[in-house]
Amino acid sequence: MAIVTGGGSGIGSAIAQRLQRAGARVVIADIHDHEAQAASWGCEFRRTDCAQPDEVTALCEAAVERFGKLDILVNNAGIAQGALLANSEPARSERFWRLHILGVQTGIREAAKRMTRGGAIVNISSITAVRGFVQWGEYAATKAGIISLTQTAAVEYGPAGIRVNCVAPGIIDTPLAMNEAPDMVARNANVFTLLGRIGRPEELAAVVHFMVSDDASYVTGQTLLVDGGWSAG
Ligand code: NAD
Repeated sequence: MAIVTGGGSGIGSAIAQRLQRAGARVVIADIHDHEAQAASWGCEFRRTDCAQPDEVTALCEAAVERFGKLDILVNNAGIAQGALLANSEPARSERFWRLHILGVQTGIREAAKRMTRGGAIVNISSITAVRGFVQWGEYAATKAGIISLTQTAAVEYGPAGIRVNCVAPGIIDTPLAMNEAPDMVARNANVFTLLGRIGRPEELAAVVHFMVSDDASYVTGQTLLVDGGWSAG
């Protein structure tokens, strides 16, 4: 049984649908109501604000109550807003921290304690975690923290048979990228990626599926950049 946070849109919706098609029972957890959409994909839905630790705990509890076990967590929910560090604001920085750090950290803890027969967790970071980008400092700092949380969690939960990995997307064609980073979208496709285009949510979902599958049974603590080669060029 799998939980996908932020599964109502973009990358998360592609991951949820991919895992569902592969035979997993999937709960989509999202702050916005995507119940009808989730049902049309054969997934369940639970409205959850992942920036609220109590709601993440209740999500994991409810999933186990409903399905009897929890095998997979994809910590995908995210928000984005660019601003120069010169214009950084504590309130905005805190919004990023609450969702990307506290939310992911709580998800790992609450899921892992219920993965009694091992499991797999994938956290979604960003290329901004490993390279500097104008205007993305507040966001990027929390996305870098996700890589760090992934490594620590892999170390601490490895003995329990729980693998924890991270996927760091480049620019992917989703509402978040189109609304919050249109300039980056345009420049990335033409100039920076080695493949000459931005990515599709389904291309992220394929990698996450691999990471949670038995094909990746000896992979843990890793971050895979899925960025059309941007970080390599
Ligand atoms: P999206 O906006 O299409 O989807 C994000 C989903 O998260 C939405 O359904 C939204 O309602 C949900 N969400 C937001 N705040 C939430 C909260 N507090 N609790 C629960 N759900 C919440 O965005 P996306 O592009 O699919 O992003 C998915 C992940 O990928 C994010 O973590 C994002 O930072 C990361 N990412 C995206 C890109 C990209 O180019 N699209 C690049 C790098 C990283």
